[in-house]
This record gives sequence, C-alpha cells and structure tokens, in this order.
Amino acid sequence: MASSGDGRNKNATDELDDRGRNTAVRILLVEDDESIAEPMIAGLRREGFAVDWVATGQDALDAERADFVLLDLGLPDLDGAEVARRLRARTTVPIIVVTARGEELDRVLLLEMGADDYVVKPFGLRELVARIRAVQRRVTAAGDDRSDPASTVVIGPLEVDTRTRRVHLGGDELDLTPKEFDLLALLAGDPGAVFSRERIMEAVWDEHWWGSTKTLDVHIAGLRKKLGRPDWITNIRGVGFRLDPTP
Ligand code: CA
Repeated sequence: MASSGDGRNKNATDELDDRGRNTAVRILLVEDDESIAEPMIAGLRREGFAVDWVATGQDALDAERADFVLLDLGLPDLDGAEVARRLRARTTVPIIVVTARGEELDRVLLLEMGADDYVVKPFGLRELVARIRAVQRRVTAAGDDRSDPASTVVIGPLEVDTRTRRVHLGGDELDLTPKEFDLLALLAGDPGAVFSRERIMEAVWDEHWWGSTKTLDVHIAGLRKKLGRPDWITNIRGVGFRLDPTP
C-alpha cells in the first residue's frame, strides 16, 4: 500500500480504503532544507500522514490541495509569510509555520498572515504531531464558523460576505432576497467592471438561460432601492451593468 516517496516533490504514502480512496490526512510540507525535511517526512508518514514535499514558495502555491500545510518561513524564493498570506487568501487550509526565527516571532504577525500555529526549530516530532492534531481539532470544532477573509468584499461603505450571505451598508445590514444577493455579490466581485446581461443571467439565474432578461431589470431595481443609492449600479445601454459605489 505504500508507494516509494524517494525524492523531492514526490507524492507520499497513500493509505487507501477498501474503495481505493485515499483516507490519510494529506500534509503539504514546504521546506527547502533537505536535512530537516527528510526526517520530518519519515516521521509524519510513520504517524499515518500522507506527505507532499515542495522546497519553494512557488511550488507550494502551485501544489495540489492539501489538508494541512507545514510552512517554513525561510524559503529561497518567496518569503514564507507571503506564501501564508497568498494561501490564506484562497483557502482555509490549516497552516502551521515552521521557523528557526524563534526570537523574531510575533504571534500577532503570525495570525495576521493567516497561520494557525507555529513550531520553532529544533523541535521533536512528538511536539509537531501534537500541534497538528490540536489545530485539526480546533478547525474541526470551528467548522463553518471559521472565518475566511477572502469571503468578504468591502467596497467603500458596502460590505458583501459571500460565506454568510450577508450585506452591510455603512454598518447596517440589508435585507436582500437570494437573487438580489447573488446579483450584488457577482457585481461586487469586480467593482467598476461591466457585466453583460447574458453573463449575469447565466451566473445568477441559470446557466442554460435563454430568453427575456426582464427579471434582471426587476431585480436591479429592487437592489438599487435597497442600497438607497440608485447611481451605484449603472445600466450600460445594450451591454449590461456595473457596480461602482462612490461614497
Ligand atoms: Ca529554510
């Protein structure tokens, strides 16, 4: 059941269930120092984790989706903190920072960059595994309450959270219908950009939409009314709409 993981950037041991699916927790190890990576990989595999290893920040960003990221801060290409921020901008994957820079470490900074915990080199495997399990428990317990910074778009006084599907304007929550929300979230995804009627219909109503777009005008009117600023949504005649909330 174990495939050989005998080199860099190679996939790890795959524990398969009786239907051939991989059941092991998949860890992405981002570490440029082979003498540190090798014993970590061996130890983590003994503990039943599947480990993918990359040695650069760019490879970490290009890597397949993992269940967990162990991230060295001192990487040869990108700063580890930057890698953490970019990962965090697009995923809620738990990140444990692995660092030799014990004294410089600022817990607030770590949290700001999106890390869930850290270990300082040198550390024992037992400590590392304990921290991985602790973060896993926290993340599992938090479930969907775990906030994803990438889910909120703030444009001027307007705040659109696609995770909770709530919209705030100047601090007050707006009461939108599901379609009004979808419409606003789409436009807010790229403020100032013109979305064609066809694109909006496909995204908000039905990908197989064909026919009248009158319902779109009705919803735009409703949305404008609730925003209280009709001029924020511009109708580009013959093309579509754009959202441009100017304070
Ligand atoms: Ca390093």
